[in-house]
Amino acid sequence: MAVTTVYGVLGSPIAHSLSPVMHNAAFAALDLDAAYIAFDVDKQRAETAMRGARALGFGGLNITFPLKEAALRYCKPDALSKRIGAVNTVDRAGTGYNTDGVGAVRALEEAGVSVNGASILLLGAGGAAKAIAAQLLLNGARVLVANRTASRSLILAQQMTAANIDCGCGAIEAHSLNEVDLLLREARVLINATTVGMRGVLEGQTLVTAGQMHPGLVVFDLVYHPLETPLLREARAAGLQTIEGVKMLVHQGAASFALWTTFDPPVQIMEEAVREALQSANGRDDEGGL
Ligand code: NAP
Repeated sequence: MAVTTVYGVLGSPIAHSLSPVMHNAAFAALDLDAAYIAFDVDKQRAETAMRGARALGFGGLNITFPLKEAALRYCKPDALSKRIGAVNTVDRAGTGYNTDGVGAVRALEEAGVSVNGASILLLGAGGAAKAIAAQLLLNGARVLVANRTASRSLILAQQMTAANIDCGCGAIEAHSLNEVDLLLREARVLINATTVGMRGVLEGQTLVTAGQMHPGLVVFDLVYHPLETPLLREARAAGLQTIEGVKMLVHQGAASFALWTTFDPPVQIMEEAVREALQSANGRDDEGGL
């Protein structure tokens, strides 16, 4: 009898992770004997959990908050994840990857944005911003990083330069949020990689409003809960093209799936599963749940 292949996501808190819904939908669509489970693992147990998963023959792991940086020590990180300083995917052989940046770039490409040579204003200098900056630079973009704590933009830019990720035609500049008006004039794309707008955290808030946006700007918000963030609402009010955070979520998951299996990830099915789960979570929020 065949043995079911187990996959999982490690992090804490983990109960609201959408990864199980997304990957189990993909396994079902491809008729694979596999199951994807969320495991609540804190930093103290990260090493044991990762070694245990490998010993048990897991097909692959995702690593999420707060373990992405610590997990580097317990796998064999590839060159990109080493440069970013964080992994979000580990394969059966124990190699670590970071698919967050590629997920964002695929979301941009799917929306028809050509990244090579484009000036991209990236708000934020946290973990997601770092992974995206690294991938944008590899793809030849000019990355303008603006962060509330300006010193963190500078550190991010210095790390990328030191790691030579800005080789080729990519380049990176560090700025503060006070400079956003000027930076927006140069930008083809605005990406929000901060937590501003997130349900239950900085809900209802946006760092940029419609009046600051120019025609032709593409606005991409990494925040996916709620599906329509205040920033996306402002961009739509200005008649601009928008990209929802759910697109990155699905594409980074699809990139992990492709690293674990020999199958093409069924991206459409994965997106439908995530949207359905988010919509029902929204319904629960309205009733005071989640
Ligand atoms: P993080 O490492 O904690 O970074 C948070 C960032 O938000 C920092 O740059 C921080 O600035 C900024 N920030 C927080 N509060 C702010 C405020 N009131 N005003 C201005 N800036 C503020 O978080 P992360 O892991 O990078 O995640 C960032 C966002 O991306 C989250 O909403 C997360 O859900 C989302 N995300 C989405 C995907 C996806 O697949 N769609 C993937 C990863 C992350 P300071 O440095 O000044 O504190």
